[in-house]
Amino acid sequence: MLNILTSKTNTIGQTKLNLLVIPVIGKTVLKSLEKSGFKDSLHHHLNFADLTDQAGSSVLFYPQDRKFTERILLVQLGKNKNTDASKTIFKAIGAHITKHATTGIVLPAGQEKILAPKILSNAFKDSFRFHEHRTKLEDADKHKLETLVLFSDKKIDNEIKEALVFGEALQTLKQLAHRPANKLTPTTLAEAAEKVGKENKFSVKSLNETDMAKLGMGGILSVSKGSDEEARMILMDYNPKAKKTIAIIGKGITFDSGGISIKPSKDMHEMKFDMIGGATVIAILQIASALKLPLHLVGIICASENLPSGKATKPGDIVKTYSGKTVEVLNTDAEGRMVLADGIAYAQKHYKPNFIIDIATLTGSVVGALGTKITGAFGNNSKNNKDFAKATQDCGEDTHFLPLYTGYSEEIKSSVADLANIGKGAGAIAAALFLYEFIDKKIPWLHLDIAGTAWDKDGPTGVMTHSIIHYLRTLPKR
Ligand SMILES: [Zn+2]
Repeated sequence: MLNILTSKTNTIGQTKLNLLVIPVIGKTVLKSLEKSGFKDSLHHHLNFADLTDQAGSSVLFYPQDRKFTERILLVQLGKNKNTDASKTIFKAIGAHITKHATTGIVLPAGQEKILAPKILSNAFKDSFRFHEHRTKLEDADKHKLETLVLFSDKKIDNEIKEALVFGEALQTLKQLAHRPANKLTPTTLAEAAEKVGKENKFSVKSLNETDMAKLGMGGILSVSKGSDEEARMILMDYNPKAKKTIAIIGKGITFDSGGISIKPSKDMHEMKFDMIGGATVIAILQIASALKLPLHLVGIICASENLPSGKATKPGDIVKTYSGKTVEVLNTDAEGRMVLADGIAYAQKHYKPNFIIDIATLTGSVVGALGTKITGAFGNNSKNNKDFAKATQDCGEDTHFLPLYTGYSEEIKSSVADLANIGKGAGAIAAALFLYEFIDKKIPWLHLDIAGTAWDKDGPTGVMTHSIIHYLRTLPKR
């Protein structure tokens, strides 16, 4: 993790920097810098250089007196207060920031508390690399940023502490998600959860296949049947004495080949990411524990591989889930809902939650509907849906609520079992309706389909982690 320091703006010059980033608004250098020794050179560059009034316009220069910084980057924030300044700054800094070992950023007055966490979250994102399996690092693999100094005239210790908590948890999530299926199995995912639990003081245990067979968890076991790797139901428990219990259930398919309904080979390697919902649950428990959220959180990861073999579940097979409901498996690639069905039933039976959230890279259909920038959400309680939508907005994570349209319930009916595991069209809705069949209707429930947003070209995004925590924080007051 990066080393984060804070300092008063009038101490600029006391810390040796490789790069100092100074946001400007119009032609005005931030008031706090007026007294600094390099005022004249700043004004020269403001008036003379190619800095426009357009937000994001930037100029990099090398001050004559390089005693305290080798470079200064002026970044125009623009006069429109509605633009997200952190994004503007980061777009402009872009290539610069991770190239330099020590970078200082001056936080504009009045925006310190909002900007600091956003800047840090961007810096952590930018500096994350997955190096576990490289024997030699190329220059391009390295980032040089070691220390980030935030110059602020307001106290921002709490904001920084919190940003670090998020940064560390997201690092856990990304590290786990990046591990390929031969390095991360349901068993090693359970071990990783145990390690995080030990370090963050929440308890973790897991059910193995023998335990699950005794309980009759036909849903998850039908998925792991084709794999030599044992499935695991990972159970994390934070703060059990709190009044409200929230169950957060994540899909943890450590590799999804599709099973007998096998996927095309192109991009199949990305299916190592099919456990990101589960990794998100670990990150959420880690953050909740560090921030001491006054809630009882139960994190459940339904972890399995989905592979074809002579033992694998075949299309047409009928399985009995933990809830007692039977399912005709029409497509073995619709395995996420099979494992989640058992996770939901287990949560309801053993923890009596007041609220259930599930998060899963569930359907290709949600990508067709919303693309790769918007998470698909569903819920059975319109007030909660609205509140959660607000939380995602506050966190800058784009989400769209899709209808839990019961007019399609017929589609997941089977002629030979209680349910079929796929519908005919509107796949994301059919998947949500399938899960809804296992939800106790008295319990408010949110379902997040992150199939389009869980990873991008740079790898896992950590999507919804901020929003879920932000939302959970509002729950104890209700
Ligand atoms: Zn699948």
